[in-house]
Amino acid sequence: MEPSLNPSDLNDVVGVYHWSDVNDASTALAAARQAQHGWGSANLPTRSELLHNVGDRILGVADNLAQLLSREQGKLLSDALAEVKRSAQIFHYFAGEVLRNNGQFVRGLRDGFMISVEREPVGTVLLITPWNFPMVVPAWKIAAALAFGNSVILKPSEYTPGIAVALTEIIADAGFPAGVVNLLIGDGQLFGQHLVENVDAVSFTGSTTVGRIILGQASKNMTKVQLELGGKNPLVVLDDADLDHAVDVALQGSILQMGQRCTASSRLIVTRGVHDAFADRLTRRVADLRIGHALDPDTQLGPVATDRQLARNLEFVTESKAAGAELLHGGGVVDVRTKGYYMQPAVFAGTRSDMRLNVEEVFGPVVGIIQVGDIDEAISVANETDYALSSGICTRSLNAAERFRKSSTAGMVMVNAPTAGIDYHVPFGGKPPSGFGGRENGSAAQEFYTESKVTYTYNPQESSADAYQLNSATKNDNI
Ligand code: NAD
Repeated sequence: MEPSLNPSDLNDVVGVYHWSDVNDASTALAAARQAQHGWGSANLPTRSELLHNVGDRILGVADNLAQLLSREQGKLLSDALAEVKRSAQIFHYFAGEVLRNNGQFVRGLRDGFMISVEREPVGTVLLITPWNFPMVVPAWKIAAALAFGNSVILKPSEYTPGIAVALTEIIADAGFPAGVVNLLIGDGQLFGQHLVENVDAVSFTGSTTVGRIILGQASKNMTKVQLELGGKNPLVVLDDADLDHAVDVALQGSILQMGQRCTASSRLIVTRGVHDAFADRLTRRVADLRIGHALDPDTQLGPVATDRQLARNLEFVTESKAAGAELLHGGGVVDVRTKGYYMQPAVFAGTRSDMRLNVEEVFGPVVGIIQVGDIDEAISVANETDYALSSGICTRSLNAAERFRKSSTAGMVMVNAPTAGIDYHVPFGGKPPSGFGGRENGSAAQEFYTESKVTYTYNPQESSADAYQLNSATKNDNI
């Protein structure tokens, strides 16, 4: 049994949880396999109503869930409530997808042929999720998987088991058949490989390092894999930007939510004409943020989610200073009323593209400004990264925005908006190595959670020529 502590107040034990082992994983696998067939052939209104019911139930206890999420993960109560409501919207959205996506029926190229393209469930799907969005990431994977008739095994982050328990209890209470949704808590290294090698598909969200491990394991049995991984997202600010708005965008994207978003703006690339004014205004805005307990309504910046992440953030601060970057603000731990993982966000200027701060994902409120001469240099620096998740530009010029959109190597581009902040009805994700195996959400979800089955039916009575005559004129179509 392992305790889960509140990062805002380490004296607050949020819950104590049984950590699963390989035997539990085998039990979950057997249950999921057994339940999948029935669920995959359940009628569509049943599937849709159950998913809708989950959304309704989440909204019914949204305040309680938000409290739990905030206590367990450390995000502000308002952010937690937004995440809970978004999770409900996603269940409602996929309740509709159940009824919308029922394949195609098309005429064949050859006379007398009709072709149906059905979407069949992949089967049993393993969903592995991180701690930064511990409700909405499981929600968008589970809702999509269930909508298309799969059974699931959820393995949430070991740092946020409580919200996963709450979500899966809601799903169970909504009336899903036993075994359709299974939950394993704990250290994924202990039983991950066993599952990856024995399920039909894995949807993983987490670090690129672990993503590569999963991909390697999946190759053994050619398990279908979808990976949503890290980012090192650039935000470009050009001389002609609305500066106050650009500072808002940078603050939102890089510092708020403690920079703990895969889509966080972690490289601020600013042209020379506005560089000093931008750095000054951003620093003042960051310095004004009220840091404190995540449940306190006056707090604007809560704690870091984990001790490990706090140590990593501080390491980046120390190393960046040593590498010659100019610390404009913050970077140290802070004492507040309760004992927790508090730190002042750090803003660095005078950083170079090749500094570790600008190369590796920090996943915390530690951000570097890179000064550039013009849009050409800005685009080139923005693309100077191993990651390809999200990118952004602040400018008043439609031309500049278009140039940036076309040349950005990222999977998502934001114009005059933070690199973080996404909608659920459109595809979400990055290109390798920030993403692999297809996008999530919106219409893209169907690609991953289903396999297509194409059936050709030939009706000789409908055909004027015999397509199978050896010397038929249609022979060349018989490829
Ligand atoms: P992580 O990779 O350490 O862990 C993610 C999950 O994988 C956890 O549930 C963990 O227990 C599990 N895990 C770890 N090792 C495993 C193994 N060998 N086998 C099976 N499971 C294993 O990531 P994290 O620290 O929880 O989350 C932060 C990372 O997630 C960041 O890199 C962030 O960018 C990324 N992230 C990406 C997206 C996206 O959609 N692209 C969204 C949110 C977070």
